[in-house]
Amino acid sequence: MQTIGLIGGMSWESTAFYYRLINERVRDRVGKLHSAPLLLYSYDFQEIKEMQYAGRWREAATSLSEIARRLESAGARAIVLCTNTMHKLAPEIMASVTVPFIHIGDATAERIRAKGYRRVGLLGTRFTMEEDFYIDRLRAHDLDAMIPPADERAEVNRIIYDELCLGTVAAPSRRCYQGAMAALVERGAECIILGCTEITMLVGPDDTSVETFDTTAIHAETAADFAIG
Ligand code: GLU
Repeated sequence: MQTIGLIGGMSWESTAFYYRLINERVRDRVGKLHSAPLLLYSYDFQEIKEMQYAGRWREAATSLSEIARRLESAGARAIVLCTNTMHKLAPEIMASVTVPFIHIGDATAERIRAKGYRRVGLLGTRFTMEEDFYIDRLRAHDLDAMIPPADERAEVNRIIYDELCLGTVAAPSRRCYQGAMAALVERGAECIILGCTEITMLVGPDDTSVETFDTTAIHAETAADFAIG
């Protein structure tokens, strides 16, 4: 099997899912006592959040690229960045390594296209929902992304940073996400992307009338499949 380099800690709550999901996939597909050869670099997420909110993206890109290089030189045969938001810096990270970068947006879009959907509802951080980097990546796969209105986006974003990244799962927040998904479906979304790696803690397939695509699970499975080869 090939070693995967994980850039995690954004937040550690979701990186813990990656660790479990990748190993479960390897166990189920390969059998015996096989588990995934992994290298993990886990960030102090407070430092990342401060860079995001201060717009210090160049600094973040330099740091993430350096970590990717270190994982490659330690033996990683692919890089997996365990967050949707920081894929804003995917081009810089990809340019800094020679091994493949397994893009969360590509992995998710391929699953959605295989099901034949075109119009997707997108929930995530405000960076993921409001900036071009993620929606354009989906568009490259012929997907049209719809996002909630501004007031709902602010609350969806707040719940991620103030609750889910701290391990808090609250019923009012679940109702907020259920409402946001229902409104997207009402506007024509054929499915929903859970486009933040912590959202899987809060909602899933039972919380909306359309199919959900959990980026954490999809990304972890894609990484495991790469490791298996
Ligand atoms: N894990 C989240 C994501 O998938 C948000 C945390 C971050 O800002 O990286 O976007």
